Amino acid sequence: MAFGEACAWLAQRDVVIERSLVGSFVTAVDTSGVSTTLCRVDDEILELFDAPTAAPAWPNAVAARPNYEPARPVVADDPPAEGDESAWLASFVERVQGAVDELTDLDRTAGDGDFGTNMNAALGDLQPPLRGPDAAILSALADRHLVRAGGTSGAVFGTLFRHLATAWEAEEDAVGALATGLGRAAEAITELGGAQVGDRTMIDALAPAAQAARACADEGANLDTSLQRSHEAAHEGALSTRDLAAGKGRASYVGDAALGVPDPGAIVLSWLFGGDGEVGAFTT
Ligand code: ADP
Ligand code: MG
Repeated sequence: MAFGEACAWLAQRDVVIERSLVGSFVTAVDTSGVSTTLCRVDDEILELFDAPTAAPAWPNAVAARPNYEPARPVVADDPPAEGDESAWLASFVERVQGAVDELTDLDRTAGDGDFGTNMNAALGDLQPPLRGPDAAILSALADRHLVRAGGTSGAVFGTLFRHLATAWEAEEDAVGALATGLGRAAEAITELGGAQVGDRTMIDALAPAAQAARACADEGANLDTSLQRSHEAAHEGALSTRDLAAGKGRASYVGDAALGVPDPGAIVLSWLFGGDGEVGAFTT
């Protein structure tokens, strides 16, 4: 995409691109972004550029002008425009929207300070009420985290909502869907990032919530009860992250500076089930 943009920008300025190399040439751990290098060529330089070489890491360049099509990601990630209002998902989104700065502050103290920005990229422009079947809304939330948000939280919360959406599509009963979705998400996220309970991530809230939701489904409890018990378990788990030195994620780089600071991902997870607990309730 960046290459297509650069080509279009140069074409507008009548610059002809004789050769192009696109890929990962200079990489560094945990950095993102792109850089573009332009170099004027004449016939002699072109001949040298195209000459066979055994130099390591030099790609087999195509000795021709590049062909490109401007690329755009096409993802329909808005929730349905019509249908019943989903109060619990709307309240989750509103709570995150209202706490972006506070969440970022937590990630600044015990991480790299982009958590709120990533949440805002995924959810910031949604305007509750959210309408439609919960499965469709959950699916839109999954796509938004996976496609729009950066950072670990984009992948982690995208995976969470994807498993919840799949469970909601497959199961009639919301209590069962909640238990299945949370359980599968916890397994998938641990497989993805290796975090276990006690590593000071959102897993510290998700794993106990999944257990509580499963117990409620097995007992035949109703949805309100299941949400309430899941919330209590997640809230307790999020509180416990204050006393944990980070094992996984960027907070592990700051060591003991994370002590006393709750994990923002765990707090956001606890908001999924409604109930009380603004950011301030976790920090005091
Ligand atoms: P980054 O760590 O890339 O800066 P964010 O700041 O967006 O990403 O997200 C940080 C959040 O991601 C943390 O609060 C934590 O809950 C969660 N997290 C970090 N690492 C993991 C992991 N390995 N498994 C699950 N969640 C994780
Ligand atoms: Mg971060």
